[in-house]
Amino acid sequence: MTELRSLQLQGALLFLPIPVVLVLFVVHPEPVGASLVVGVVLMLGHRFLARPYMHRSLSGKCLWCNGALPDDAVAIPLDTAGGRIEGRSCPPHALPLQKYLAALERLRGPLRGGIFGPLFLLLGCLLLVAWGQPAPVETATAIFRLIVGVTVNLAAIGYLWVAPASPTLVPFPAHNFTLLGVRNLVWIFRLVGIWWILAGARALLG
Ligand SMILES: [Zn+2]
Repeated sequence: MTELRSLQLQGALLFLPIPVVLVLFVVHPEPVGASLVVGVVLMLGHRFLARPYMHRSLSGKCLWCNGALPDDAVAIPLDTAGGRIEGRSCPPHALPLQKYLAALERLRGPLRGGIFGPLFLLLGCLLLVAWGQPAPVETATAIFRLIVGVTVNLAAIGYLWVAPASPTLVPFPAHNFTLLGVRNLVWIFRLVGIWWILAGARALLG
């Protein structure tokens, strides 16, 4: 296996815990307490595998398309919570990458609020149910899907109208953007986001 294929495969495997966590929170299989604990442990523990992968992958594949880097690859400086790192992209992919990262930076307030607000509401309800207390879990789940769906699309569609910037601040854990390449992640955000908007709105209105 080439180094690129190995990086792509490792990135895909390291991405898998993210949908598993979302299923544990959104579907919350019984017992709810176990789903909550496993989901939180995976969510908090993921970075210990994904951050070393990020550092290995940055010079080995394009941060946008997840493909091979040409000799004239462009360096993309990124300011993360762990310090400055340098991504690389194919020359034509520097522009969409810098536009998307600029959108994350510029919209970081609404993006954080739109993700962490509904997340904490849902986790709070799951915690109450796990303790045998009544809580509006299905309403909180519908709100979570609706608001998170709108929020991820705010950046995944909205970045098309944002001017590129460099260097950029990455206001979310940067390793998550390196696993599949940003372009694939943006498509997941668009498609799953639209599905969640419809599912969340239907549950709230029904
Ligand atoms: Zn590329």
